[in-house]
Amino acid sequence: MVVASIDIQGGKVVQLKQGADLVLQRDDVEALAREFDKYGEIAVIDLDAAMGKGDNAALIRTVLPLGECRAGGGVRTVDDAARLIDWGAKKVIVGSTAFRVDGKFGANGFGTNLAFLEALARRIGRERVVVAVDAREGEIVVDGWKTRTGLPLIETARAVAPLAGELLFTSVENEGMMSGTDIEALRALKEAVKQERDPTTLLTVAGGVSTIEEIRMVAEAGADVQLGMALYTGKVSLGEAFGESLNWKKCGGMIPVIIQEARDGQVLMTGYADREAVRETFVRGNVCLHSRTRDVLWMKGANSGQTLRLRRLRADCDRDALLAVVEASAGVCHTGAWSCFATDQGLRKEIACSLPKGDCPRSFSGDSWKPPRGYLNIRAASLTPYVPGEQPRDRAYIKLNTNENPYPPPPSVIEAVRNAASETLRLYPDPACTELRGAIAARYGVEPENVFVGNGSDEVLAFAFAAFFESGRAAHEGLPVLFPDVSYSFYPVYAALWDVPCETVPLRDDWTLDATDYLRENAGLIFPNPNAPTGLALAKIAVARIVEHQHRIGKTAIIDEAYIDFAAPGLSAVDLVKAYPNLLVVRTLSKSASLAGLRVGFALGDKALIDGLCRVRDSFNSYPVDRIAQAAALAAVRETAYYDGLARRIIQTRERVCAALAPNGWTVLPSSANFIFIKHKTRSGKEAFQRLRENGILVRHFDRPRIADYLRVTIGSDEEMDRFLEVART
Ligand code: PMP
Repeated sequence: MVVASIDIQGGKVVQLKQGADLVLQRDDVEALAREFDKYGEIAVIDLDAAMGKGDNAALIRTVLPLGECRAGGGVRTVDDAARLIDWGAKKVIVGSTAFRVDGKFGANGFGTNLAFLEALARRIGRERVVVAVDAREGEIVVDGWKTRTGLPLIETARAVAPLAGELLFTSVENEGMMSGTDIEALRALKEAVKQERDPTTLLTVAGGVSTIEEIRMVAEAGADVQLGMALYTGKVSLGEAFGESLNWKKCGGMIPVIIQEARDGQVLMTGYADREAVRETFVRGNVCLHSRTRDVLWMKGANSGQTLRLRRLRADCDRDALLAVVEASAGVCHTGAWSCFATDQGLRKEIACSLPKGDCPRSFSGDSWKPPRGYLNIRAASLTPYVPGEQPRDRAYIKLNTNENPYPPPPSVIEAVRNAASETLRLYPDPACTELRGAIAARYGVEPENVFVGNGSDEVLAFAFAAFFESGRAAHEGLPVLFPDVSYSFYPVYAALWDVPCETVPLRDDWTLDATDYLRENAGLIFPNPNAPTGLALAKIAVARIVEHQHRIGKTAIIDEAYIDFAAPGLSAVDLVKAYPNLLVVRTLSKSASLAGLRVGFALGDKALIDGLCRVRDSFNSYPVDRIAQAAALAAVRETAYYDGLARRIIQTRERVCAALAPNGWTVLPSSANFIFIKHKTRSGKEAFQRLRENGILVRHFDRPRIADYLRVTIGSDEEMDRFLEVART
């Protein structure tokens, strides 16, 4: 098993060479802890406290609950240790205090501070005590390795073992040098610990381990490995180290994986993983297995979208079985049941059975069922909701994270809001949005019966998923709904909400959408044009080809044109609506009309499709668009010239920003939207995001496969973008 180090000094994560020279410094400690937790335990060490130069208590306190952490550095008393446990540490690491008695070493003949270790074991439990045995040339050293103790490593370790759940061995001469650990000393240590009556003292090696070969040797010697320098410098990855520390030989290269739901602890299924599946699980962030029937790598949910998002992977005591703790996006069993170990077929709770327990044919599922997360039903508990861009309250930011328009709506719209704020608010709004639909129809050259208005285009999209895409068990045996793998991240959320099986179609390597990828049997499809978050537009002819194909197979095509007003003229599919009864075009007033705060979106399509949306709406909420929103949207729809001016201005700024970024270390995708999708040549997406944030600029970073190194940056005003460029260029 692998333990990742987080050494903290002066509020930053650091790596020191031989405990002294600063080699690396980072300040993304919380993100690191979340990431490391996927692979194993985390050793969080307060170097300042260890060296008696203050402490980082506040930071440590925020980090400990983020993973399975062992904490140490400056633990001098039993109370110090108990405090760390209270803050969420699983184990506590003690160093000098384990050996020193009244300022001396070896005073009691055992070389240990027995009274302290006994009191510690009594207070927090022996299994939570990790004693650090740091040694230089076979002699234990303490106080950040500055003080020699005269205590011999092996004998002292033997004396300490009965009072510790684990020994943490650091070969000081190798620490931070990546020059290999002292394998001979390790073997001797393991032998010494084993000779003790209690064989359960674990052994972890820190310091100097820097190659996969060594990790294997350490694992074969029966010890775990703690990685610091080698990890931060990229010499080894935690995924590789994890894979190497497993006992592949014992099980013929295929390790069983038990899959457990993180939120309620229920065991969902089992599978088998080979080395590739373990590696891919970490790379993709979703559980991957090896299909024994098909003899191929298999990412659960690759087709259905019902993925198992990895929280953490852990090996068992002898490293020949794995536990994957996950968040399942839907039921996992092919029968439709939530768990492969449940006997019920649906997502419902079993009705209590009045037969005596042993006689009840369903007693297993009846007894094992417990509502996850309090009183939520299973569907609600299993949702992974969309995470909207942050609306910060902590300070004033230049807000380039949610594709809002930097310029105000026209005065006529504000005036309309004022007028609507009258005594008529006591009355319900017009459920059919008659006047507004008339104005939208006139503007886009269709009939009012071809227009549906909703509370933001998000709501229109949610209704469209419910109205046009088949759901439930029967649908899961059929074809999936298609959308691009990199696209608006609300689509998979709607699919899960309505239980619609879906399949993501990978964009090409250059991020373009290839129409031919969609010309196959499916249960319907949806994509944004221009796409989000890439900003790339799909040519009208390609859109038409897809819509035509959908028409031929009798399925809907939904084109989400949230950003179309920032693209070249003539791209919209609106004029195809009359020709194709299967086409729904969705628009929003949030972006080009500067009305994100109003929540109005609409759809254009054949009357039968619009009626379908109305059926869903009226089964949900008959008045989603309030009086004020209808009045303001009506005024906005009539302001074509004003809004054309805003779009032109934003496009100009966009092109200027793109031109300025490209020579300054950024890859910039050609955008047809009011945002750009960019990647720094050397900085990771997270780092670039963080840097901008620290400089008061908020952009959007999606920590997802394929796009984790990209940022989506909304085009703000010219002044805002000048400031953005100033920071981005450095
Ligand atoms: N579609 C896409 C592609 C989007 O990016 C957004 C904005 N998040 C929406 C639809 C929803 O916009 P709204 O609900 O504000 O109309």
